[in-house]
Amino acid sequence: MRPARLNSLFTPVRTLKGVGPRIEGLLDKLLAPKVPGPKGVSGHARLIDLLWHVPVGLVDRMHAPSIAESPLGQIVTLTVRVAEHRPGGPRKGRRAPYRILVEDETSTIDLVYFKADQRYLERLLPLDESRVISGRLESYDGRLQMTHPDHVAPVEGGAGIPEIEPVYPLTAGLSNTSLRKAIDGALKALPDLPEWTDAAFVAKNEWSSFSDSVKDLHTPRSEDDFLPTNPARERLAYDELLANQLALAVLRQSLKRRAGRSIAAPGRLRKAIVDALPFALTGAQARSLREIDADMADPLHMLRLLQGDVGSGKTIVALLAMATAVEAGHQAALMAPTELLARQHYETISRFAAPASLRVRLLTGRERGKERLAILEALKAHEIDILIGTHALFQEAIAFQDLGLTVIDEQHRFGVHQRLALQAKGLGAGAELLVMTATPIPRTLLLTSYGDLDVSRLDEKPPGRKPVLTRTVSLERLDEVVDGIDRAVEGGAQVYWVCPLVGESEVLDLAAAEERYAHLRERLGGQVGLVHGQLTGKEKDTVMAQFAAGDLAVLVSTTVIEVGVDVPNASVMVIEHAERFGLAQLHQLRGRVGRGAAQSSCLLLYKQPLGELARERLNVMRSTEDGFVIAEEDLRLRGGGEVLGTRQSGLPAFRIAQLPDHQDLLAAARDEARLCLSRMPRLEGEHGERLRLLLYLFERDDAVKLMRAG
Ligand code: ADP
Ligand code: MG
Repeated sequence: MRPARLNSLFTPVRTLKGVGPRIEGLLDKLLAPKVPGPKGVSGHARLIDLLWHVPVGLVDRMHAPSIAESPLGQIVTLTVRVAEHRPGGPRKGRRAPYRILVEDETSTIDLVYFKADQRYLERLLPLDESRVISGRLESYDGRLQMTHPDHVAPVEGGAGIPEIEPVYPLTAGLSNTSLRKAIDGALKALPDLPEWTDAAFVAKNEWSSFSDSVKDLHTPRSEDDFLPTNPARERLAYDELLANQLALAVLRQSLKRRAGRSIAAPGRLRKAIVDALPFALTGAQARSLREIDADMADPLHMLRLLQGDVGSGKTIVALLAMATAVEAGHQAALMAPTELLARQHYETISRFAAPASLRVRLLTGRERGKERLAILEALKAHEIDILIGTHALFQEAIAFQDLGLTVIDEQHRFGVHQRLALQAKGLGAGAELLVMTATPIPRTLLLTSYGDLDVSRLDEKPPGRKPVLTRTVSLERLDEVVDGIDRAVEGGAQVYWVCPLVGESEVLDLAAAEERYAHLRERLGGQVGLVHGQLTGKEKDTVMAQFAAGDLAVLVSTTVIEVGVDVPNASVMVIEHAERFGLAQLHQLRGRVGRGAAQSSCLLLYKQPLGELARERLNVMRSTEDGFVIAEEDLRLRGGGEVLGTRQSGLPAFRIAQLPDHQDLLAAARDEARLCLSRMPRLEGEHGERLRLLLYLFERDDAVKLMRAG
């Protein structure tokens, strides 16, 4: 249960004075947390969401010129006399707005009110009296006007108009002033909370309390207050990172603490498999296996992440780990994100596992009825050694006789959180855990999504893969590039040609791709094909199949090349307007060539002039093919928010913390989380209570539940 003193912060915004149904609707739209669910229905915005809505700029209402001197389009504060009220009458079938003419010695302007309440306006701006008004100055039909001034106040005492006001991201229909009022209400509801962070650390950083820092966050005084180094932002970022690290540490602890066991075997099955392989393991594969073996043999639970680019050979590592579990007398399970991938794993693994006579079975949504029942029976009877399925298996009532090792293939998505939590409770509780991911995650971000999970990296490609020659070429030399492609195609090469993201609109992207397609067809003839996102799945498959069969030599596409396309014969990748792509995207695209025997190349076509950042990015691409290096560089060049398409990837989104800016704070938070849990494994005692407040504040309270369950 959430501590009672926090309850007010988690009530809906409608409980605030001044927030009626209209404002409530707008605030919900802007701030409501998206409730995860099939339809992505959103819930209601709560006071806490208002507090985490961070201002992005300042308005300086000190600017008080005369009307004649006032700059158009800016916020100004004017002292004016009310000269005339013109209630809006019907005009050309529409209701005209209510206008109030005001003046000073230099000029006049109209104050414009839509859907006005006359009596209210007559009280607010009485005829012939002076008022201070503040708002944005516009021009309409050749007249100066201010629509719905942000502030109107009597001249005496300058009452009520703040000199400096924070500016917030808004949604259509919601004014900064209404939002600001709601935030003020939420700030008033903020309780005083005891300090949860090490007092010496807080003092050393000269931070204020949590509540004061939240208030400071909403009271910026200068542009400097928007920097990540602002003390209030730092303090809150630290709190958020501490909550994140604490939650992950609790999760890890609850998985590790379960009665572990030691799984080890002489390696008879493993040897049978390895002896039959047509290749030798790479150094990285061998090292990773040693790390996995040590974890499994240890009486504590294994909780390990196996990271490696596509093609780095994760599958065989997983199989060899499972072979050890089987030889030691247990069963193993491998779960993939999609049915297709589960099938692919099943085919590969059955083939490699055959020399060791392992009994491998597949279970997905497609295996139904009697077949399914038979598989389930066989699992229970320990007549299956390795079960391969989709992540959905976690949700099902499946009983192994003795599950010793679970392998989760995360492929491109990560944020394995929820699944880890499921693991802690249900299927596989008590089994060793190996998570595989193909996304190179920078170390900094790794910590925020996996906490202290142990990591093995496959940072070495299987031998025989030639490096892809990467060149950057100005688009001005397009004709030469096309000549080069012509010659390559003559020589039997196959080419991907990727067209850029033009804008928000897929239609524009498509137009660019179609134009390039027409152009290349003219130059190279009928062996050019086109795929894009507007085609049906079947149409796409047809074109892809033609390309895979070698009937097409050049495949033009928008950025949506199907994940998992594998055409080993394709050896040239052309990326147009490469400067518009992110590093991670360029890396993924380039990874589609260099799979076959031929020397591959990648041409990054860019438009001049290149900005500094774009130039650096292209240089990174030229200098390395190592996904890990590229990911680190991406983080360095762009900042955490956008790395690797983190939005789609499921990395935790932080409300305040910014990575890599707050990297040092992250490391400190990890250390403090560790220390806290070592002192109070169940967050017991008074200090534990405080840390629980923190977990609830940042909605990481799953961790609290876990602690109770475990
Ligand atoms: P990942 O799962 O990491 O994307 P895979 O396990 O599918 O990579 O391996 C990619 C390809 O490389 C497969 O065809 C696999 O058989 C092969 N492979 C794996 N390890 C080696 C190795 N040590 N030497 C040569 N080829 C290997
Ligand atoms: Mg163990």
